[in-house]
Amino acid sequence: MEGKKDMNKNMLYRSIPKVDVLLEEEQIQALIARYSRDTVMEAVHIEMDKLRKYIAQCEEEEKAKKQISLLREHIESSVAAMHTPNMRMVINGTGTILHTNLGRAPISREHIKRVADIATGYSNLEYNLEAGRRGERYSHFEKLLCKITGAEAAMAVNNNAAAVMLILSSLAKGGEVVVSRGELVEIGGKFRIPDVMEQSGAALVEVGTTNKTHYDDYENAVTEETKALLKVHTSNYRIVGFTDSVGIDELIPLAREREIPVIEDLGSGVLIDLSKYGITYEPTVQESIRKGADVVCFSGDKLLGGPQAGIIVGKKKYIDKMKKNQLTRALRIDKFTAATLELVLQEYLSEEKAVQNLPVLRMITETQDETQKKAKSLSRMLKLAAVPAKIDIQPCESQIGGGSLPLERIPSTAVTLQPERISVTEFEERLRHLPVPIIPRTVNDMILLDVRTIESWQFRQITGQLKDLKVLEESGASNER
Ligand SMILES: *Cc1c(COP(=O)(O)O)cnc(C)c1O
Repeated sequence: MEGKKDMNKNMLYRSIPKVDVLLEEEQIQALIARYSRDTVMEAVHIEMDKLRKYIAQCEEEEKAKKQISLLREHIESSVAAMHTPNMRMVINGTGTILHTNLGRAPISREHIKRVADIATGYSNLEYNLEAGRRGERYSHFEKLLCKITGAEAAMAVNNNAAAVMLILSSLAKGGEVVVSRGELVEIGGKFRIPDVMEQSGAALVEVGTTNKTHYDDYENAVTEETKALLKVHTSNYRIVGFTDSVGIDELIPLAREREIPVIEDLGSGVLIDLSKYGITYEPTVQESIRKGADVVCFSGDKLLGGPQAGIIVGKKKYIDKMKKNQLTRALRIDKFTAATLELVLQEYLSEEKAVQNLPVLRMITETQDETQKKAKSLSRMLKLAAVPAKIDIQPCESQIGGGSLPLERIPSTAVTLQPERISVTEFEERLRHLPVPIIPRTVNDMILLDVRTIESWQFRQITGQLKDLKVLEESGASNER
């Protein structure tokens, strides 16, 4: 370090170009023409500040000079970054199908194209084309939902948390709602059934214990004040062992006698029997309606495989109350959701089509053989591209995620990567910084890409990005700051 203290910092500072001179340069003028003078100015100031700070702490003249020479390039990338959307597609190599942090259910390209066609212009969102007057935004998918689930009426709000709140506010405000202690769930993001109930203005009456609730518990809890019985599907955890709960079919007679509705929050919202595909049976919406539930709600972007939404189906007299509730205005879905929901639900008219065309169902039902074929093809492509890492495939297990079927493990296949020149931690970080970031699983000092959550068309994207040697060479960082 000694000997470098006498470097001439003043001279270095003076060699930084003046702002007005810089702005006249061709390269910067081109940036102004392409973007705007304001953003370029902002980038100039940010980069100049960074450069001065760098020089202030820099101990080597050569390095400082290098940074000064890179100023224009840094301004260019800074402006470009300002104009690059931060939210983008990522490649999900974790094998968790409904990854809440990664946006839960992916929507198919075909459906998004159709939605784009609708949303780039005006639409009949709330316009009845038959009658030539105001229509209802739920009309596009209400009939479909009724047909698929067997319910009398349907609507949708922003998400299932909102659906629970709207239902309770519409049917039980100022009264009591009886719910089992074994069903007072907290779903990620601090959403707790008891808290939502409080917000809705309905008082919670807890019955039973964590592991056991009996019919008598409900019967004894029902009073003049009781406005509804609530069942919550414990979708994100399982109480196992010495347990007992009361099925919806047992609650129906009690509710009928007291003339109150039975509400069921199903959480995941499965519309097909998943046990056919080797997945643990999840109660379907149809089953709940068939057993007599008056109102059922579920998420649009969990096992249904659609957009974020809280779907409510049930008896018309209750749904009508909800449609009239003032809260509905605050919780209503937008045109993107309404359009996507219709397309996704239409696929359910044929189970075969749903499993083929909805990415979530396709991923869930993909066999291990299919994942093995996919993994072989991806590893072959990576090897052909001479990616500097040890590449192999190995069996692994995928998860459903999103708080659905928490214990379920689906046998799958992963492509494994062991970088030759950098650490796994470093590699993982670089994968996150790619133009199309790759989010892998890291196990035993190895990078795993579970191909179940990666579509085949993304293989080229992966290979193309990893072929770029910088991702795997010793020092990929071009910018030292
Ligand atoms: C996931 C879940 C919710 C919340 O659904 P969002 O659509 O995420 O708001 C509510 N209840 C249950 C039982 C759930 O599993």
